[in-house]
Amino acid sequence: MAHVMSTGSGVALDLIRSGAATTRAALIEHLGWSRITLARRLDELLTAEIIVVSGQADSGGGRPAESFAIKRDAGILFSVDIGGSHTRVAITDLVSTILIEDEADIGLWEGPDAVFTWASQVFDYLLRQLGKTRGDVRGIGVGVPGPVDVATGRLASPQIDAQWNDVLVKDYFPAEFTAIFAVDRDVNVMAVAESRLGWPESRDIVVLKLGLGIGCSFVLDGRVYRGARGGAGDFSHSFRFGAAPCTCGRAGCLEAVASGYAISRELNSRGYRIRTSGDIVALARVGSPDVEGLLSAAGAEIGTALVDVVGLLNPAVVVIGGILSEAGDPLMSSIRDALLSGVRAFSGTGLVVAPSRIGNKVGVLGASLIAQDALFDADRISHLTRTV
Ligand SMILES: [Zn+2]
Repeated sequence: MAHVMSTGSGVALDLIRSGAATTRAALIEHLGWSRITLARRLDELLTAEIIVVSGQADSGGGRPAESFAIKRDAGILFSVDIGGSHTRVAITDLVSTILIEDEADIGLWEGPDAVFTWASQVFDYLLRQLGKTRGDVRGIGVGVPGPVDVATGRLASPQIDAQWNDVLVKDYFPAEFTAIFAVDRDVNVMAVAESRLGWPESRDIVVLKLGLGIGCSFVLDGRVYRGARGGAGDFSHSFRFGAAPCTCGRAGCLEAVASGYAISRELNSRGYRIRTSGDIVALARVGSPDVEGLLSAAGAEIGTALVDVVGLLNPAVVVIGGILSEAGDPLMSSIRDALLSGVRAFSGTGLVVAPSRIGNKVGVLGASLIAQDALFDADRISHLTRTV
């Protein structure tokens, strides 16, 4: 990466994008630049059609001040949210407005060939519906079900399913795409959306994704924490108890005793036919005592395992998302009860344990956000638009 241009247009764009400063006065206050420098950088962004004058914010009695915003319709973004058994895709504008979307019961175990072939076909169909072409696509954001080396965008190895080892998502899209690719682990992508769109008032958040598997992501001081190799948040393979086999090849992990996999394995052994986490939620909604008992027990295990996470990180919010969370109580209440009764009074004070504020679009919204982050990267924009 080129060195940071601290007086480049990209730095001003960051403030405009986040909403931290959208007028000339606010930008100067944040940046400490001269009026002339700021005027030049804003001109660069306006000329490149990255921002627009969005309105006249009344500065309070005196002259109304111009404000600036991203030019939201200067292109579109593809979002892909791949889960264990379910994948959602969406096309958004450049500020996360979903324009059109689709979903299917296809995921991790079908492998990257099947998932991306399906996604590419659906995107071509959705583009036609919108009257757009592949040339309008500026960025492609993808949440994948395993750790990603963020520096290269390549999935790390080994993955839970070897089909995903070392996958480079770009290889699965037609070569004619010149869009920027942004790829991260599904639960990190979800955490980006929860943090910025769901819980903007909180800087420290733990996000769980409960589906067939159990994903976990940490937002620390406003940023997703990925660890040295992209593997932070490996909560699902913390040891709990027993000899139940786990997807990771070991036994007794949290995922082996309290995940959608564990619940579906148990239900199938009792004669049910469960394939996806959505199947479990459907059973819970019709009040099956079998599934309620299993969800309650799983919630207690997850809540107990979260006690150490909360003790170590002291988050303000624990967000419980993912398809399985749509089952509501008793899963949610048993997670909350086990967690709050297990944590020390200090970490439990003011701790919020809540479902997602965004719901089932969180993954595609997060994927749109990581694509925007790549597209509007400050250094990239500074170099791209620089006139002097
Ligand atoms: Zn495991």
